[in-house]
Amino acid sequence: MNLKAKLDELEIFGKVAKASATLGIKSYVVGGYVRDLVLGRPSKDIDFTCVGSGIKLAQEVAKSFDQHVPLSVFKNFGTAMLKLDDWEIEFVGARKESYRLESRKPIVEDGTLQEDLERRDFTINALAISLNREDYGDLIDPFDGLGDMKRKIIKTPLEPGITFSDDPLRMMRAVRFAAQLNFDIDADTFFAISENAARLQIISAERIIDELNKIVATPKPSYGFKLLFASKLLHEFFPEMVELQGVDSVDDKSHKDNFYHTLQVLDNVCLMTDNLWLRWAAIMHDIAKPATKRFNPKVGWTFHGHEDRGARMTPNIFRRLKLPMDDRMKYVQKLVRLHLRPIALVKDEVTDSAMRRLLFDAGDDIEDLMTLCRADITSKNNKKVKRYLENFDKVEEKMKEVEEKDQVRNFQPPVSGEEIMETFGLSPSKIIGEIKEEIKEAILEGKIQNNPESARKLMLDIARSKGIAPKDTHHITKKTTD
Ligand code: ATP
Repeated sequence: MNLKAKLDELEIFGKVAKASATLGIKSYVVGGYVRDLVLGRPSKDIDFTCVGSGIKLAQEVAKSFDQHVPLSVFKNFGTAMLKLDDWEIEFVGARKESYRLESRKPIVEDGTLQEDLERRDFTINALAISLNREDYGDLIDPFDGLGDMKRKIIKTPLEPGITFSDDPLRMMRAVRFAAQLNFDIDADTFFAISENAARLQIISAERIIDELNKIVATPKPSYGFKLLFASKLLHEFFPEMVELQGVDSVDDKSHKDNFYHTLQVLDNVCLMTDNLWLRWAAIMHDIAKPATKRFNPKVGWTFHGHEDRGARMTPNIFRRLKLPMDDRMKYVQKLVRLHLRPIALVKDEVTDSAMRRLLFDAGDDIEDLMTLCRADITSKNNKKVKRYLENFDKVEEKMKEVEEKDQVRNFQPPVSGEEIMETFGLSPSKIIGEIKEEIKEAILEGKIQNNPESARKLMLDIARSKGIAPKDTHHITKKTTD
């Protein structure tokens, strides 16, 4: 690859080279940008390292633009950042790092380029490109990162045990890079991860989940999860998922391994969507199977109620993993709770009211729920898979018909609480909710149509049965004939 030609494509490299020459210091492009350039992956973050002050270099570079470019200086860290359109460009002086046992915060001192590259996590991240006159565009690759990219291997530049013990987050990063790039982890590096997995305890949940979500966002996350499981990193922060693994047998009856099943469902979902939270719903959908597992001599293994129990486990797991506790959690929880419902609708004798109830409960997430359910079919028997998918096609057709007729998917009560209060001269009280609930039930059951006229008629009947009279008959007559 002609790196010089690549550097010519962006004016920033020429500007940094010129600024370094003016300051009389040496500078380099380093880290992830170089890796991604070699691998042909798009990247919008560029890191520059110089042997000297990164802040001074950044200021000199900022001066060279005709227009004002926003420059943020972080004096405490000795770094500076330029924002150019959607590019993030960071400048830092070369540094060497040493660690203490109890913390991943290193003691940082000025260092040489070699020392700066040595402190980096993986050989593929420890490459630099010179921006200096004498060797402009040359690749500096002290640990054969280029070779590891060709061999598709994640490997630490120095002794892996020390690398991971110094900063255990690097173990999550190793798996994340392997998952993103579809690389193997070098055997010694992997062994050191297994040995140091328990050190992950000094890493904050926020940092762990950042890496985990990058793994979940890959095209085939099962690979990353299998590495997390095999190295026992997963055991450190997500024991509920580890619990899914394993097969019990009694009297020749066994159940499927729910860990590998979950991973397959996750991969299946990923073929259909990039939605991170739908992917999380796949991860969580069977999470309560270990807790609900029973053996019944007549029917074999059962997991009754695992969908409800799983939904109840969701907030606790989200809270602990520092996943968002907002609508995104509620969405995952809802899909976990409902994930068996569409399967129950496959039977021929299913009533419209069962359809209406699911549409009502799932609301706008009905398509995502159906995606999850389709992904949940993991039989090895292709004929079976085909048949099940066709069944879901039928369910979806029927659902469409019911929705067109009854519109319960985004259910809005056809009579409001205010209208009920006004009609009967009531102040806010429990009874208003009860009337509304009865009307909703009647619509879902198909006893009345989903429109204001039918709902108002029923409202009067319900009130009458409760001994409540309208305050103004004329008003009612007018309203019901609107
Ligand atoms: P991505 O942008 O996908 O996260 P990246 O490699 O650019 O990948 P950054 O976190 O931006 O990741 O880090 C930039 C560079 O800093 C890395 O390429 C690596 O050389 C180094 N680095 C980052 N984190 C660590 C770490 N924990 N230990 C050692 N080196 C690290």
